[in-house]
Amino acid sequence: MADRISVLYTEEEITARIRELGEQISKDYEGRSVHIIAILKGATFFACELAKRITVPVTLDFMSVSSYGDSTVSSGIVKINKDLDEPIDGKDVIVVEDIVDTGNTLSYLLDNLEKRGASSVKLCALLNKPERRLKDVNVDYTGFIIPDAFVVGYGLDYAQKYRNLPYIGIVET
Ligand code: 5GP
Repeated sequence: MADRISVLYTEEEITARIRELGEQISKDYEGRSVHIIAILKGATFFACELAKRITVPVTLDFMSVSSYGDSTVSSGIVKINKDLDEPIDGKDVIVVEDIVDTGNTLSYLLDNLEKRGASSVKLCALLNKPERRLKDVNVDYTGFIIPDAFVVGYGLDYAQKYRNLPYIGIVET
């Protein structure tokens, strides 16, 4: 049976918000360059659209991580499946993530990246579910604050499906 998905944010709303984030980041990083680290796979759609809206020079790298534990609750013990291609020392890094949920993954990842000698490390998340937070994570740039629901689309999956939906929707179970 097909899953029922109700639209939370339309493609137009997401595009408009990403444009605003791009403008804000361009202003904040005026005179500098931004090194975006996009977290595979969920953040790729968002990171590419965001990068296009940033007017200062942008370089791009990717990282893939997974959390040990069961599939619904991340454990906080994170495995790096694909590390960065380039060193980040001296760079102004923005980690771009699809969603911050418990904060376990980002808390580990930000600690890990901060030890690698970057000039600065900031976090930009398309979605933020503060109600679910277990670890304190400072989200510097947030697309949308959402309630505690399982969302898909715009890069986010349900069993690897729905990443390609152009909108963000809630899976009704
Ligand atoms: P955290 O470590 O913050 O609990 O987990 C972050 C990761 O859990 C995200 O990168 C994402 O892969 C997954 N995740 C958390 N909430 C959702 C959700 O509502 N929908 C989807 N598709 N993935 C989610």
